[in-house]
Amino acid sequence: MFRYDVAIIGAGPAGLICARNAARRGLSVALVDSHDRPGVKLSMAGGGRGNFTNRTLTEKHYLTDDPSVVRAVLRAFPCEWTLDLLRTLRLPFEERDFGQIFGLRPAAFLADRLAVQCDEAGVDFHLGHAATSFTPPSSSPAFGRGDDGKFFSFFAGREKITARHLVLAAGSSAWPASGASDAMAKLAAAWGHDTLPFSPVLVPFVMLGDWPLAGLEGISLNVRAGIARGGETFWPDPAGIRSLLFTHRGVSGPAALVASCWWKQGDALVLDFLPELPVLELLDEKAHGKLMARNMLSRYMPARLAEALCPEDLARKKCAEMGKKDRLRLAEALHAFSCRPSGTEGLKKAEAAAGGVKLSGLSRRLESRKVPGLHFCGEIVNVTGLLGGYNIHWALASGALVASDITEKSR
Ligand SMILES: Cc1cc2nc3c(=O)[nH]c(=O)nc-3n(C[C@H](O)[C@H](O)[C@H](O)COP(=O)(O)OP(=O)(O)OC[C@H]3O[C@@H](n4cnc5c(N)ncnc54)[C@H](O)[C@@H]3O)c2cc1C
Repeated sequence: MFRYDVAIIGAGPAGLICARNAARRGLSVALVDSHDRPGVKLSMAGGGRGNFTNRTLTEKHYLTDDPSVVRAVLRAFPCEWTLDLLRTLRLPFEERDFGQIFGLRPAAFLADRLAVQCDEAGVDFHLGHAATSFTPPSSSPAFGRGDDGKFFSFFAGREKITARHLVLAAGSSAWPASGASDAMAKLAAAWGHDTLPFSPVLVPFVMLGDWPLAGLEGISLNVRAGIARGGETFWPDPAGIRSLLFTHRGVSGPAALVASCWWKQGDALVLDFLPELPVLELLDEKAHGKLMARNMLSRYMPARLAEALCPEDLARKKCAEMGKKDRLRLAEALHAFSCRPSGTEGLKKAEAAAGGVKLSGLSRRLESRKVPGLHFCGEIVNVTGLLGGYNIHWALASGALVASDITEKSR
């Protein structure tokens, strides 16, 4: 049997930083993962380069049941904190559009460097076995059936591990090919926490085969994406304009992925294909007067898309000859194209999942209000970032916060 101050389930970014920091502060730490190497999902991030954080970090960039907790965590662990971490790990980075910070080495480098530092700090890795058969401390007010008054216990393979503090840093069930599952969120629910089922976000949309823009796969352009629900349209993306990619099955690209964070079955996706060029002004331009509407639009977007978007009866009309009603109809078709996705690609292709353990059941330092000594960090918590490095930032920041809390409580 192994006995520790802290056992952490999940060697993703949240678990790794939590383990490293707790061990550096003198605690004995077990880090358990069902994979035989740490940071498997992290290694896939940002197309392999890893978008680790963002210059613009606010609670508005997260879906959660308590934005005030997210705001407090981001204040304590701002973008510059993650950048300092990257510097100390000797992981060079660059800033791209929308304030996104990408690593200049494979994303796996971050996992590897953190794992080395864990090792140097004395963390015991238990890899290659899912943690199962959990028992809370019998002193826990909610239970009273654990085999040791002050210790959590569980198995990693055949090894029994006990620890005074348990950290669930097991991520969400998004992208199951990376080994993701909701088993630890279910454990949290069984131990009395309010949880929301994981639902796919940052995921491509699927359209019916006969939707009006079928056959445009490969085309990509900047759009503004909104959601129409119950007769109202809202444009939730704080960044406004991002690129959209037509795929064989529907649409993807940053604009679609971010819109998926708010989309619910039955909602329409609304796309403004000329977000910076009002069509009514383009129609008024003298140089466009003699052009057919379709040809004029092809100057500002791929011709095949212009053809598909332009109402058939207007396509061959010259701009100067179009009346007010036609102009408004054309503007509507370009600035508020509406389509109803049949669904999304689901958890299988989702970069993240909304839902998880609600903050309402946790302290502001992410300790359970139900089971003292139990902490949560990373994506298992009901805090989901938009596209742009927000999820890894949250995983790192919340993992560091939990390490501080446990260290202070262990003094
Ligand atoms: C393709 C892809 C690209 C992405 N790109 C980005 C990006 O560029 N920027 C960004 O911010 N976010 C990105 N994300 C999201 C980001 O990777 C996650 O939000 C982040 O890894 C979550 O960190 P975590 O530590 O909470 O959980 P994870 O990284 O998911 O780690 C959890 C670990 O827990 C382990 N585990 C689970 N249950 C058990 C158990 N019972 N026993 C033992 N081990 C268990 C799992 O094996 C896993 O290794 C991407 C995700 C995907 C899928």
